[in-house]
Amino acid sequence: MPVIHVLAPHVADMIAAGEVVERPASVIKELMENAFDAGAKNITVEMKNGGATYIRVTDDGCGMAPEDAGVAFLRHATSKLRDERGLEAIGTMGFRGEALAAISAVSHVELRTRRRGDNEGTFVSLSGGDIQEMGPAGCPEGTTMTVRDLFFNTPARLKFLKSDRSEASACVQTALRCALGRPEISVRFIRDGKEEFFSPGDGRQDSCVYTLLGRELAASLLLCQSRDESLAVSGFVSSPAAGRGSRASQFFFCNGRCIKSALLQAALEQAYKNTLLTGRYPACVLYLEMSPGAVDVNVHPAKTEVKFTNERRVFDLVYNAVKYALEAETRTAQVALSPSTRKAAQPRADFYQSMRAEDFRQSGYAVPGPAGGERRSGKDSAPAFRSPEVPYQTRLDLPVRRAPAPSAVRTPSPAAARPPHVEKPVQNVETPPVPDHKILGEAMKTYILVERGEELILIDKHAAHERMLFDRLRSREGALMSQTLLSPALLRLGPEEQELLEKNGELLQELGFELEPFGEGDYAVRAVPAELAPEEASAALEEIFEKLRKGTAPSAQSVRDQVLHTVACKAAIKAGWDTQGPELERLVEAVLSGQVKYCPHGRPVSVTLTKKELDKQFKRIV
Ligand code: ADP
Ligand code: MG
Repeated sequence: MPVIHVLAPHVADMIAAGEVVERPASVIKELMENAFDAGAKNITVEMKNGGATYIRVTDDGCGMAPEDAGVAFLRHATSKLRDERGLEAIGTMGFRGEALAAISAVSHVELRTRRRGDNEGTFVSLSGGDIQEMGPAGCPEGTTMTVRDLFFNTPARLKFLKSDRSEASACVQTALRCALGRPEISVRFIRDGKEEFFSPGDGRQDSCVYTLLGRELAASLLLCQSRDESLAVSGFVSSPAAGRGSRASQFFFCNGRCIKSALLQAALEQAYKNTLLTGRYPACVLYLEMSPGAVDVNVHPAKTEVKFTNERRVFDLVYNAVKYALEAETRTAQVALSPSTRKAAQPRADFYQSMRAEDFRQSGYAVPGPAGGERRSGKDSAPAFRSPEVPYQTRLDLPVRRAPAPSAVRTPSPAAARPPHVEKPVQNVETPPVPDHKILGEAMKTYILVERGEELILIDKHAAHERMLFDRLRSREGALMSQTLLSPALLRLGPEEQELLEKNGELLQELGFELEPFGEGDYAVRAVPAELAPEEASAALEEIFEKLRKGTAPSAQSVRDQVLHTVACKAAIKAGWDTQGPELERLVEAVLSGQVKYCPHGRPVSVTLTKKELDKQFKRIV
């Protein structure tokens, strides 16, 4: 019979250490978080090789009293939590009192610390968790923790470490995430004697992002802000044109803690739907702030995952904030990150704080533009409300070729002229003004040339129209207007397609298609959506079946979108077609007013050349 016995404390510590300290990067994370909690303003992180041999973190925080310096390494020793009541509202990065115990159990540690105002500091050295030396020492205010020979006494763990190069890069990534979460703290990272990064710690999210993530990424970012009574999100998201090949540049922070969150990732990516090419991912640096009671950080030993008390609210807030950022005209990063105009890029500091949640919602998410201009204007443009009951209309309705236009639906009404891009969660939105402009003409029967101030804008007329139609179709809930074909088109479907028809028949019918079996795989197309020209009917359906067959659509909404893409694409004016002046004018207005930015496939609808760029090309300026 095996005999049960209680493990010696140092064995228990070594086992527990495995949960907190997986690799050198975890040591860096824990030590940096301790420095944050100590109220440091400046932190220096140094590492050598892959970090297992040497990590040193120095801070100018509150330091420790001599009597605390040794106790700090005991398991469950923490100054941040007294009893279970505190667990419900954790305001610090640490609270489990585990990190120093875990790290010191599997390495050689040296601590030098001096409390602010004390004459003298304390030195403690430990090996495998046992104190070797302890006594007074001269040192600067703050704390320096040196960790050497990680896993020296746990060879199994040591074996699992990857090459120095990949451990080092994990260290850099971890430190970078920590630093990114705290724009108010300056972090210097030194790897093998060379500075790897440095954040200024001026409290500005934009300068933090710029210095840590680099100019290229920062330049593609748009300002993103929203808040309600107890929840705030701020930060940046990438413009759809700057989609990336992976999710590596998505950073989420909750109360300063870098977290992984499927919920936040979904909220982010949902907001980009139909603007990003497939296989591209948005980048973001999003900071969530909420009361500590609204989030449980104690669900994961390394505290990288959290549980929100109200997931729906968090999702909606982030989704709407991102959606709004994408729709807003302002290319914040460009303004925000060039030093001369930096100041202008910050929304008024008091804007969000002073606004009640209800007012904020009523404002239609109006944010003062970074360039100083407020999107919300005074009485002269009273906020226009979009009532969900009114069938969606826009003055952008181009006369669609040959398709009958039932007057009840198509009468353009100014009260209903609304940008088509804003989805349901946003209650009301103003009609954006169309800036002064001049249409110079059309190039290659494809691109509309427009002059606006110091800009030359080229608009892809097909892409723009396709987007307009798509938004319009999409904003109509339920069934779409259908037109009966005078002479039904014939369509032959293979067995696989017939199955797809059976599965998606209802949706197709709802979207205006009517197919009737004609025997032996032949179908008569009796009706198509009103937008579609009858002669496009078969081609559109073939494309739709092709998409259904590939089966990439994950949800019902996406299948609907895919069908609508096809209808919009087939119904839109094409490159190479002659287009009438008024049609061009309406397209241009839609694009310039910001209602149309990306085609449903995520390709840009317009390209802007500035006078400055042209002058540069012609070497008028250098
Ligand atoms: P926790 O952070 O969960 O409290 P740790 O084991 O990481 O647990 O640290 C134990 C205690 O040691 C902390 O609660 C804090 O009082 C003290 N401490 C650790 N690092 C520092 C530091 N850099 N500056 C001041 N105090 C520190
Ligand atoms: Mg800690």
